[in-house]
Amino acid sequence: MAEAPAIAQMGGVPVLILKEGTTRKTGREAIRLNIMVARAISEAIKSTLGPKGMDKMLIDSLGDITVSNDGATILDEMDVQHPIAKLLVEISKAQDDEVGDGTTTTVVLAGELLKEAERLLLMNIHPTVIIGGYKKALEKANEVLRNMAIKVDINDEESLKKVAMTAMHGKAVRGVKEYFADLAVKAVKQIAEKRGDKWIADTDYIQLIKRQGGSLFDSQLVYGVIVDKEVVHPGMPKRVENAKIALLDAPLEVEKTEIDAEIRINDPSQMQSFLEEEERLLKEMVDKIATVGANVVFVQKGIDDLAQHYLAKKGILAVRRVKKSDMEKLARATGARIVTKIEELSEKDLGEAKLVEERKVAGEKMVFVEGCKNPKAVSILIRGGLEKVVDEAERSLTDAVSVVADVVEEPYILPGGGAPEAEVARVLRDYATKIGGREQLAIEAYANALEAIPKALAENAGLDPVDIVAELRAAHEKGKTNYGVDVYEGKVTDMLTKDVVEPLSVKLHAIRSATEASAMILRIDDIIAASRLEEEKKGKKEEEKEKEESTEF
Ligand code: ADP
Ligand code: MG
Repeated sequence: MAEAPAIAQMGGVPVLILKEGTTRKTGREAIRLNIMVARAISEAIKSTLGPKGMDKMLIDSLGDITVSNDGATILDEMDVQHPIAKLLVEISKAQDDEVGDGTTTTVVLAGELLKEAERLLLMNIHPTVIIGGYKKALEKANEVLRNMAIKVDINDEESLKKVAMTAMHGKAVRGVKEYFADLAVKAVKQIAEKRGDKWIADTDYIQLIKRQGGSLFDSQLVYGVIVDKEVVHPGMPKRVENAKIALLDAPLEVEKTEIDAEIRINDPSQMQSFLEEEERLLKEMVDKIATVGANVVFVQKGIDDLAQHYLAKKGILAVRRVKKSDMEKLARATGARIVTKIEELSEKDLGEAKLVEERKVAGEKMVFVEGCKNPKAVSILIRGGLEKVVDEAERSLTDAVSVVADVVEEPYILPGGGAPEAEVARVLRDYATKIGGREQLAIEAYANALEAIPKALAENAGLDPVDIVAELRAAHEKGKTNYGVDVYEGKVTDMLTKDVVEPLSVKLHAIRSATEASAMILRIDDIIAASRLEEEKKGKKEEEKEKEESTEF
């Protein structure tokens, strides 16, 4: 490949513009290179699309193995280096954060849009024209999708369950899909709240807790917060009704001095008074907790043995070394305020719950906080026989919860199985002829790219993609808008009759991100890369930093 020089000529005198060692690629070559990278990424995860998608096994530098067919997980684990690859990883992450599903679709679509663009570039169509056509196609696609979407009532639990079941296709959860869908719908409905005339479902309110042991059917919804810790002292109550809860981000210990101090004691009575002083301080802390009226206390730091003893004597249930994130959940759920200085604790800071109880789950103790002041806090306790199964159950539930929340917030669904893509492609081909000119070609290219979704679904199910796409086109020409690929029966059918439905918002978001990413990549016509050496040095430094960070745990 010819590289544009980093040196310009001015009147025969070379002028050094860029640092030595910098490489530069411009124009078509830059675009081609970037497209190649994007396609490589997109091709790599295409085979995971849909319920019949294959798994990828990823082995990291430490030899840890991840087997997954989740687009976002795979891209994350792939640890890509190239900036364009990183860009695609970012759009898949954004898709995951914002709507919680459709990550593979987004990246595959971006790759296909670029593949089509490459073809147009070879026909000497300028990137700006391609981008213009793609933008027009996107707006049209939005219109078509909104038109074909079906409105769902938030109380229509059956439809919400179907959406949840379509999103879950982990092999381990196959038998429990319906049960999990039910958990997801109940959890989301509990946390959903109406603001104005819109429903908001913030999935941060749903805590997923894994506990290996039992079967997937033992997974349960808990209306409250679960703290994965035990009551600190055997003399404390294990069950407190009408709990008044204090949250402390301070140790119930007498703080050791920062500097190494040596205290010389040459009289036994001095020793005695020294210990007495410590005792007095601890007792004072416990008294403070008791006087404000708390009967349960969650402490983010440690609790001294003696303080435990005093708390037990007062009949206060205490838990120590509670995770910060759990403290925050407790605060939100119980209405308590996290207090950092125990002397400042007051009655106003206490939270409330109907019941705080330690229970044994799979032989280990956990503290359940139920019947909270704010009912908008729920937890799903995920159970399962093997670690891998529990992990997959968690991933599936996360997807299920996200898509149900999506539909609650924007109450429209679409048929799945590539039906929307096929329908949009049909309309776009029609629309393209009306636009005409070079942009027509770009709009047609957009339609081709969309068809890659049903094509991939068919291919992954071992079907002939060419036949399936031909059948699909024929069906859509006849006005059968909801026809998609039935990957189990191996033919095209009305996906609504198969209960394969997805949130409208996931599809809208996916095509928008894919289009924007492809446009961004097409706009780059100059790649200026600093010398490798510096990059490697920086990479090493970052690696070291990461190592340091990870050893903290
Ligand atoms: P993504 O990361 O994009 O969500 P998935 O692997 O979850 O990728 O696959 C999603 C695609 O699979 C969607 O197009 C969806 O309509 C399709 N799909 C899901 N379930 C079925 C099914 N039972 N039959 C056909 N297609 C399905
Ligand atoms: Mg999915």
